[in-house]
Amino acid sequence: MSNYKKPLPLITPTSKVFYDGCRSGKLLYQQCLDCGQVIFFPQSICPGCLSHNIEWKQSKGKGRLFTFTITHAAAPSEFSEDTPYVLAIVEMDEGYKMMTNIIETDFDEIKCDMEVEVVFDKVTEEITLPKFRKPK
Ligand SMILES: [Zn+2]
Repeated sequence: MSNYKKPLPLITPTSKVFYDGCRSGKLLYQQCLDCGQVIFFPQSICPGCLSHNIEWKQSKGKGRLFTFTITHAAAPSEFSEDTPYVLAIVEMDEGYKMMTNIIETDFDEIKCDMEVEVVFDKVTEEITLPKFRKPK
């Protein structure tokens, strides 16, 4: 039994591909083969042109910190024991943004536009979450 208490992602047939990728150390995203739009979070229909002609691609796992906030205090919840923690939006080199956490990085080194790289956090047997850190 996992003692992970926080909410877990909802697994759908589409999101399962993404989370299976994370579990095997691959950060996946999608691209529309008809209009070229880069797609994240995983969809079954292109949000740009409504095409079903979507392919999975593997990200290199590198990007830049678009914006972030450091949460020092939170209302009582499954997250309060993690404070302080960094909630962030990362812009991937492939051109999409992800909401995530910055980990393994000193808070005073965290700045917008800094380079970040993915790290995979296995939170349960089924779910591995992609998080980011300053490259070592
Ligand atoms: Zn499209």
